[in-house]
Amino acid sequence: MSAPTASPFTATVLGSARIGPNRELKKATEAYWAGRLDRGGLESVAAQLRADTWSRQHTAGLDSIPVGTFSYYDHVLDTAIMLGALPPRVAGIADDLDRCFAAARGTDDIAPLEMTKWFDTNYHYLVPEIGPGTVFELDATKILGEIAEARELGVPARPVVLGPLTFLLLSKPVDGQGPLLDRVDELVPHYLDLLAQIADTGVDWVQLDEPALVRDLDRPALDAIGRVYDALAQAQKRPAILVASYFGSLGPALERLAHTGVEGLAVDLVAGTTTGIAGLPELADKLVVAGVVDGRNVWRTDLEQALSTLATLLGSAAAVAVSSSCSLLHVPYTIDTEPDLDESLRTWLAFGNEKVSEIVTLATALRTGRDAVTDELDAARTAAQVRASDPRLRNDRVRGVLASISTDRTRTPADRRREIQRRHLDLPLLPTTTIGSYPQTTRIRVTRAALRAGEIDHGEYVRRMRDEISEVVALQEELGLDVVVHGEPERNDMVQYFAEQLDGFFATANGWVQSYGTRCVRPPILYGDVARRAPMTVEWIVYAQSLTDKPVKGMLTGPVTILAWSFVRDDQPLAETADQIALAIRDETVDLQAAGVRIIQVDEPALRELLPLRASEQPDYLKWAVGAFRLATSGVADSTQIHTHLCYSEFGEVIEAIAGLDADVTSIEAARSHMEVLDDLDAAGFDLGVGPGVYDIHSPRVPSEDEITALLRTALQAVPADRLWVNPDCGLKTRGTTEVTASLANLVAAAATVRAELNR
Ligand code: GLN
Ligand code: ZN
Repeated sequence: MSAPTASPFTATVLGSARIGPNRELKKATEAYWAGRLDRGGLESVAAQLRADTWSRQHTAGLDSIPVGTFSYYDHVLDTAIMLGALPPRVAGIADDLDRCFAAARGTDDIAPLEMTKWFDTNYHYLVPEIGPGTVFELDATKILGEIAEARELGVPARPVVLGPLTFLLLSKPVDGQGPLLDRVDELVPHYLDLLAQIADTGVDWVQLDEPALVRDLDRPALDAIGRVYDALAQAQKRPAILVASYFGSLGPALERLAHTGVEGLAVDLVAGTTTGIAGLPELADKLVVAGVVDGRNVWRTDLEQALSTLATLLGSAAAVAVSSSCSLLHVPYTIDTEPDLDESLRTWLAFGNEKVSEIVTLATALRTGRDAVTDELDAARTAAQVRASDPRLRNDRVRGVLASISTDRTRTPADRRREIQRRHLDLPLLPTTTIGSYPQTTRIRVTRAALRAGEIDHGEYVRRMRDEISEVVALQEELGLDVVVHGEPERNDMVQYFAEQLDGFFATANGWVQSYGTRCVRPPILYGDVARRAPMTVEWIVYAQSLTDKPVKGMLTGPVTILAWSFVRDDQPLAETADQIALAIRDETVDLQAAGVRIIQVDEPALRELLPLRASEQPDYLKWAVGAFRLATSGVADSTQIHTHLCYSEFGEVIEAIAGLDADVTSIEAARSHMEVLDDLDAAGFDLGVGPGVYDIHSPRVPSEDEITALLRTALQAVPADRLWVNPDCGLKTRGTTEVTASLANLVAAAATVRAELNR
């Protein structure tokens, strides 16, 4: 073995967005699924996007380009495929791409993998299932193919692969499999094989992503770091290894990694700090890739501060490269395609391309001194001054109201509310409902586009949306759902809809980021104090209520979720911003109630997402997050039933906080994980209403009546009947009307069956 002699690079990013500046990959993939595009067509769109991304970064001045962060669906799923760890139920699908999509989305008779959030981001990955029968086997086709493409284009490629520890830490043991880290040594030979194959392509660096190492790790996990990376460093043939961490500090994992023979470490110096890194003797012969440009948020980098951070590392490492703190997967492509940005706000921001420029500027300053970049430094300083003095940052009215009511966050005890609401609402046992949205049909999108293009006026838009609402209400009456929703046709997105109506936000035109698969979101930019100008939802809900005698559930997005799914100002504590949003939502609940709305759902699907990765930081977060929700929901009368909705996450760690929300009814994602969350709720003494999802809406599959009946019977083992609600996992906006109608019919029928059993 001889250690590779790769020369260090100076400027890079840890990964790239893949969906395309105009969501080309989304469109092509959906066309492929619909049979409108063949595999060759899809592959050529994908190859073009990769080539564009790499050459843009290369031209901009990066001297090492991540390759392999492209994915048709998800990079954790790609890793499972690479390691032969797909579940046996998809093995029968001959075509490899269709097999990948089947694992991701399911088919009529194959259940998909579970999906959950990628650390504390709004990106969702597919959770690999590993059982005693899983036999790891390397298939490096994808990464080798992309390396070949990049080399053909003359790109200084640095292949990126998810590391073995993170792969196992993010997977789920099935079929009686014990702790997954026990199997890490089995993965080592396959990674060695992979390193050898990559070395054969002639690239000199490989990046192994180990973001899981920024979480709290137990002793066996910490020990595994040294064992695995020492083994990999001793490979017969390999490129230089960069182990990349992001989303926080490495903590005790840092020294373990630094002790191994890997050549480089990437560290997140936005979410984490240089503490423990600067001065660590083991780094003296390593490349430190310093993530000083925020890959998660959109604010322009304080270049002076970044330079001083970099300076603290210079003496400690053999070489320092400048990088984004994490992959650029989490930010939009460029501010150049934002025509409506005001000129002042524009100068405060940096999206993907602009971040690449910042990285190149910083690397230039590091290499040749700051004189080479004085213009860039001046511009950044001026922008920071302009931003700090912008009057939109402060709304004294909002600050005054908050100061006077910020302690008022409690309602009457839940059991008393339950009695009052029972009389007020008169619902059957196991009430059926949905989470809010109905399919966002082409017709709805066309109407929205027509309004935007000025082809129809606001009056016509309202008429058409009311037609959509009345159709959805009629459908629910026909299906026999007990609590009706208006269907959210007027909402392009559950956060953006509110952001557009609140002061303090800017909604981008093209700022798409991938959420999961082909699903993209456009997080608004929360730059100043938040204030509600006028009621935001009341007219739509009141219209829906006018069409039915059944209760219509008003639909709002909660403060934590609005915060989590926006790019949030970094100049004040999140808790303060959360309370400002909460106040706006609270005012909305009061107006809905005054207009006769008896049930109001305040969605908090992102409650778990913002949970800090380190246990020591979690209590403080949960305190303010729960506090913001309670501020938003405690302004109504006892008779008004507050619902909340949570999804896409493992909720185990926040169960007590869910109880702390004190919502009368909580609907929660559960279908893919077979109701497991109910036992956790039970163990935590949760005794409010709960609707575990019985219909997985992330897949086009129609669940049968029997299947839903079985799930409800399982649920009843953990929840007494008088607290159980029946609903899908999440909103229905991404689904088609036919499958939704069939699924909801089965849901209502299953509820009726189980209700009859209970009444017997
Ligand atoms: N009310 C929203 C909807 O139904 C909730 C969506 C979500 O939880 N992501 O679309
Ligand atoms: Zn949801």
